[in-house]
Amino acid sequence: MNYEYFNTLLVQSIGSKTGSTAPQITPSASFGYKDAMQAQEIFEGTKKLPLYARVGNPTNTKLESIVTKIENGFGAIATSSGMGAISMVLSAILSANDEILCIGGFFGGTYTLVGETLKRFAIKSSFCEIDDFATIEKKLKSNIKIVLIESVGNPGLRLPDIKKISDLCKSYETLLIIDNTTTPLLVRPLELGADIVVHSSTKNMSGHSAALGGIAVFREVDSKSDKLLNQKYKDLHEIIKKAQKASLIAICKKRALRDIGMSANAFGSFLTILGLETLALRVQRVNKSVETVVKILEQKLPQDIVVNHPSLEKSRDFENYKKFFKNGCGPIFTVDCKTQKRAFEFIDKLKLATMTANIGDNRTLVLHMKSTIYRDFDKESREHLGITDGLIRVSVGLENPQDIANDFLQASIK
Ligand SMILES: *Cc1c(COP(=O)(O)O)cnc(C)c1O
Repeated sequence: MNYEYFNTLLVQSIGSKTGSTAPQITPSASFGYKDAMQAQEIFEGTKKLPLYARVGNPTNTKLESIVTKIENGFGAIATSSGMGAISMVLSAILSANDEILCIGGFFGGTYTLVGETLKRFAIKSSFCEIDDFATIEKKLKSNIKIVLIESVGNPGLRLPDIKKISDLCKSYETLLIIDNTTTPLLVRPLELGADIVVHSSTKNMSGHSAALGGIAVFREVDSKSDKLLNQKYKDLHEIIKKAQKASLIAICKKRALRDIGMSANAFGSFLTILGLETLALRVQRVNKSVETVVKILEQKLPQDIVVNHPSLEKSRDFENYKKFFKNGCGPIFTVDCKTQKRAFEFIDKLKLATMTANIGDNRTLVLHMKSTIYRDFDKESREHLGITDGLIRVSVGLENPQDIANDFLQASIK
């Protein structure tokens, strides 16, 4: 994993050396076919031309090819949002009475998708801690269909041993899906044995906060000995026979995107591509800044405000940080002000930080967790996710790290 590699890869993959140097945008919902035979070929998939924008668009295809390279995958599908990517993958694979195991902390939307929405469709779920391997193995033995993790649990910041979990999923022939929104370029889950990677491209990938978007990236399917050939996935076997290596893409297109329509739009994908040009530069800077800012805050914040980040030696994930996240674990850290009152006072004194429900932005962002994203959660779920009364999530931006730290220090003075 090397920023120099990604800088060259990204700028060289975007735009064109002849004609328009900026990436092209094709904002068309439909596409004309040359003749009746070509229409048939496009629909049967033997001719690779755009069919209709719900199932693909040339601008989305460009974005998909770039993110496929970033994740070293086989192919990708761009979606309308990060939740669109997650719901596409889950609804394509799961049916009523299936079960999904969610390991670690989750983004609020994912938590309610699994715990409320999929539940209405009789899809069962269970949750456990990232290092609770006894439960993980017990669940895998019970024939569950999907294991879902975030590369870095948001906002608890627990760091999973992805390789260990993926090895277990391999032994029990179970699909592993990783939400890599917080750590593009820093972790490549497909190389660690994950089957599908999802992103909210709204966050780090864009950086500019001008486009809502998501993407799912897939590995190649081995139609002779793939874990998907396990009997528990038998309703997918027809598609695998036809689509072979590209089966995971076909499964998501035919069983979700086509019928539910969480499709990306060309203008959004175009804006996301513009953001991707500078992703490596931004990720490098932000991850260095996070370490700088949390070190300053750990030393200088008053006793009643505690800063949490895995790069700090006191963190229970310090070992995993050094082992698996050598270049950083994304833009987020948290501060715990103990009470909601103190957290509100602290946030309201900030001058540089923007208060909003987003992460991975070029600007530094803050949000009090319990009163916003997690306000509808019961006490037990909040405890599981580490949402304490005074917890503030911070997403570090591109500003001078000393300026960022100074803002938090001035806001901490009572
Ligand atoms: C924001 C986010 C999502 C959802 O993405 P949207 O683009 O807002 O739909 C999913 N997972 C994580 C980790 C996120 O931060």
